[in-house]
Amino acid sequence: MKDKRFQDKLELGIGKLRRFSQTTWRKEHLERSLRHRQGECTRCGACCELAFECIFLKKAHGKTTCLIHKFKPDNCKFFPITQKDLHDRDKVLPGRPCGFHFPEKFKPSLRH
Ligand code: SF4
Repeated sequence: MKDKRFQDKLELGIGKLRRFSQTTWRKEHLERSLRHRQGECTRCGACCELAFECIFLKKAHGKTTCLIHKFKPDNCKFFPITQKDLHDRDKVLPGRPCGFHFPEKFKPSLRH
């Protein structure tokens, strides 16, 4: 069990690096992914607790608020970028899906 948690934390940390790379150096990939992404944020806050809980996250009445929303980094602003991000996010809050999803046919996103 302990090993599983460590592995999950490691994968979530790697996910943070992946998104940093995608939002910093892979702008074309980012734009293509966002064009295919569907849905909208339901403010569940799960993406604010990947690997650790963000200190700017405020929770109230089942919704979350980002205290630095206007200034938050691209890592957060563009979440989720790929299906992998949703897979990571589901480790934090498996019982409630993210409001975003990617169409099945958008398979290239699974490779990045
Ligand atoms: S996990 Fe999805 S629905 Fe939840 S706060 Fe992040 S983007 Fe919004």
